[in-house]
Amino acid sequence: MNKHNAPRLRSAALPASSAGSGAAPHPDTLIDLMSIIERAPERQGGDRLRLADAIFESAADGILILGPDLKVIAMNPAFAATSGYEAREVVGRVPEFMATAARGANFLKHVGDALASQGAWKGEVWVRHRDGGVHPGWWAIRSIFTAGGDVAYYLALSGALDFGPRANGDRGVRLANFDPLTGLANKRLVRELVEKAFTGARDGKGFAVLYADLDSFGAIVERWGHRVGDQVLFEIARRMNGVLRKCDSLGRLGGDDFVVILPGVESETDVAKVARSLLDAVAVPLPVDGPARELAITASIGAAVYPKDGGSAASILHRAEVASAYAKEHARGSWQFFTDEVGSREVPRLSLEASLQHAVERNEFVLHFQPKFDLRLGRIVGVEALIRWQKRGHGLVPPAGFIPLAEETGLINEIGDWALRAACRQAKSWSDAGLPPMRMAVNLSARQLSKEDLLSGIVRILEKTGLPPNLLEIEVTESALMEKAVKGIAALRALREMGVHLTADDFGVGYSSLNYLKNLPLDSIKIDRAFVAEIGGQGDGAMLAGAVIGLAQSLEKRVVAEGVEQRNQLEFLRQHWCDEAQGYLFSRPLPADEFERFVRERPRL
Ligand code: C2E
Ligand code: MG
Ligand code: MG
Repeated sequence: MNKHNAPRLRSAALPASSAGSGAAPHPDTLIDLMSIIERAPERQGGDRLRLADAIFESAADGILILGPDLKVIAMNPAFAATSGYEAREVVGRVPEFMATAARGANFLKHVGDALASQGAWKGEVWVRHRDGGVHPGWWAIRSIFTAGGDVAYYLALSGALDFGPRANGDRGVRLANFDPLTGLANKRLVRELVEKAFTGARDGKGFAVLYADLDSFGAIVERWGHRVGDQVLFEIARRMNGVLRKCDSLGRLGGDDFVVILPGVESETDVAKVARSLLDAVAVPLPVDGPARELAITASIGAAVYPKDGGSAASILHRAEVASAYAKEHARGSWQFFTDEVGSREVPRLSLEASLQHAVERNEFVLHFQPKFDLRLGRIVGVEALIRWQKRGHGLVPPAGFIPLAEETGLINEIGDWALRAACRQAKSWSDAGLPPMRMAVNLSARQLSKEDLLSGIVRILEKTGLPPNLLEIEVTESALMEKAVKGIAALRALREMGVHLTADDFGVGYSSLNYLKNLPLDSIKIDRAFVAEIGGQGDGAMLAGAVIGLAQSLEKRVVAEGVEQRNQLEFLRQHWCDEAQGYLFSRPLPADEFERFVRERPRL
């Protein structure tokens, strides 16, 4: 192949900062680096060669030099370190034994074709560690030509999977296999890696899968928002990575669930050691931006081991997950091997699902009501209906104990319909009984928002109960609106035209586009209670609350504050022109009869 046929490789100048910083250079950058070497002035004989040599020796990423026959001529120290191979095991061999493409057979043929036609190839390569682990990585291979235009060498450069998304042209491929937030293998790739470990392990050695679930991640996001949540995930990923050997793999399944694959484990003691180091690494207090500053986080880890725990990759992964749930249930921040006893504990979740199903059939739900005050008028203008489950033998279960499962299983549709009907019926009867006019607010979950018959369902309930639409308010969380509003938007618009009041709940934690929110058919924005809780505390929490109120006001909707517990919070909200407030300061959510008494006795602030 002639050099002049090959398309020019990118040759933008290398930013000065990355040249000597020791940061892992991206393959593209390394290609740039090679162009620079080629163009570097030859001051004294051999200068360029020494430059190239220095790069080869000191690069943080793996470099292989192959001959025209694709046999390895040399590997650099970084490649030796990350792959575990010694030069004598690699040199002179076609690297097929240790590298395959992410997918599909005939990897080398594919690469060879690309090199022949374009002079270069870039893509995902899985390097098999000497100990059996598989390392997905991003590689670039280019041809180096002789003066006569023949291929002299192929230069293969790996870009370590550094953290954070890369804005390059091959993003699509990366996104298919890697989690953009942490740079770790994503769910899909994790599954493939476990499959690989499974096939690899059949000829002798065992391997282990650890499933790590952060203990209070949901609460952290709820309280501090997604930006802090992302920081936490990123940092936890970094720490876990730091504990692992080169041949281990780490992935994130989404949310706060991580998976570690440990190839070549000799005994359960090895696994226990890794699990403990992971727990220790996670438990170091974690600095974050914003008012939280430092967070204490723990993880619960479950471990499953091949061959003991598994007939298949899927079952090993599942058992590790079950063991992690068991660990969490018994002692947060602990770890647990999968055992028969652990396996038998899968039942409670099933039975929770079954008893929730029964609860729907037997109608074991009840609504409690919390008043909302207009801060200018100084009187009750609304009431929020909050559902509870009267579970046999358990007392009142709060929504957090069953709404997520109801969402997952789809039971939320029936439960939500019941809540809507019961709330409208109650509102109508209070209105008939002469209580001051109050809008009845009902919470809708994300799944309900995307229901086809959302509009017709609500209209039917309004007709059946006889409640005027302007006395109904629908609350949908900001994050559900961001996620599902596209589907529900027509229904929301139609409801609003009928006079139904619409509110974005838990505002400020969803990190959404203000412009988008502004264009939704909303009447009110309800500030998340995490911000209200900041008012009157130490530090700059009040400033943050003020800023979020300001943001909500910029949307030109009514601004509501929830979770008001203290008088100084109320004063602050008044000073900041908040329109409405609710919280324990005024009243806890009450059963219907108590609420009615409350309104009759104390309709004003
Ligand atoms: P939400 O809509 O944001 O409701 C406010 C939550 O804050 C309620 O918790 C309420 O009891 C609590 N709260 C009110 N005032 C204060 C206060 O001063 N301090 C503190 N710390 N908390 C206060 P609850 O009743 O546990 O409800 C939790 C969530 O469950 C609700 O959050 C809502 O998203 C959901 N939910 C409740 N009822 C329903 C329902 O019928 N359907 C659906 N889909 N979701 C519901
Ligand atoms: Mg609400
Ligand atoms: Mg709320």
